[in-house]
Amino acid sequence: MTADPCFADTYSQARARFLAAAAAAGATIETIRHPLRGPDGGMLACDVARLGPPRARRALVTISGTHGVEGHCGSGAQTASLREGLFTALPADTSVVAIHAINPHGFAWSRRVTEDNVDLNRNFVDHSTPYPANPGYEDLRAAICPPRWDEATRATARQRLDDYAAAHGRMALQQAISGGQYADPHGVFFGGHAPTWSNRTLRRVFAALDQHAREIGVIDYHTGLGPYGHGELITSAHANPPAYARLCAWLGKDEITSPDLGNSSSAPLVGVNSAGMREAAPNAQVSVVALEFGVRPLDQTLDALRADAWLHAHGTFGSPEWMAIKAEMRRVFYGDEPRWKEMIVARGFAVTRRMLAGLAAA
Ligand SMILES: [Zn+2]
Repeated sequence: MTADPCFADTYSQARARFLAAAAAAGATIETIRHPLRGPDGGMLACDVARLGPPRARRALVTISGTHGVEGHCGSGAQTASLREGLFTALPADTSVVAIHAINPHGFAWSRRVTEDNVDLNRNFVDHSTPYPANPGYEDLRAAICPPRWDEATRATARQRLDDYAAAHGRMALQQAISGGQYADPHGVFFGGHAPTWSNRTLRRVFAALDQHAREIGVIDYHTGLGPYGHGELITSAHANPPAYARLCAWLGKDEITSPDLGNSSSAPLVGVNSAGMREAAPNAQVSVVALEFGVRPLDQTLDALRADAWLHAHGTFGSPEWMAIKAEMRRVFYGDEPRWKEMIVARGFAVTRRMLAGLAAA
């Protein structure tokens, strides 16, 4: 197949392509409307397409747009799998649940975060207890998110970050910036102070699954880390040994990476979405893998995120700097080239097929 037409330039176009492919595949579709609108005034929603027996014991779940703008990738993979008929002959007692744009606001606005500047994949902590500390972020806060975004300020900030990396290592810097923080609501990788709309919506979908599913395998599509077009299989190994064992058996132990084991392109994280899925579906074994595709070098990606945080705290909608920073956000999280899209679809299909086969044996 040609991958390119499955991917879209905008959230609205992605949504239309996904819904058309889901309808053609015979899926039932649930639309969960988001209260806000996109930059073009269009409606925002998380759409859930379901295929297979409605009360199946096993379920394969795919998720796009956990990190908003990263949804260009996941949406394309989801649409391709529906168009290509990947789910026409499902194993017995197995359903497929494709969650499209769980963070539709971030997708539409070319942001990684939700409407409240929250990193959804740091939002699944217990908000009634003290938040995890991130001393590295606190240390570097003024350099990570400076109040101005001019050449001189950026150069000074860059020097401060480079000095930190020289003293503590590149991964320590990555963890300080991206590990998650709960002290700076206008900063980057902010985990929020309450469950955000996308958090509540994800729990709702998993609570419905918990009515019947007992084995759930999840592929959560991401972009922004690792080599160009490479699809790394990342999981939080320590949190759930049964899930880790399943993922290793289904997808290959050599291919599974874990930030906590130090063999992943991701820094260790707090508040990730798999915790919420398990809490919402306590009667099921939930095994979650993040399928993470590289796009551009990490420095460029983190700089785009810092610029975007500055823009939404201090910038002006529609200004030239707005257009430039939004274009850069898209460029670092979406490999809008035929070769990249072919790599995403090939890898996405392979992982999907392996997970379906693994579920069938579970
Ligand atoms: Zn991501």
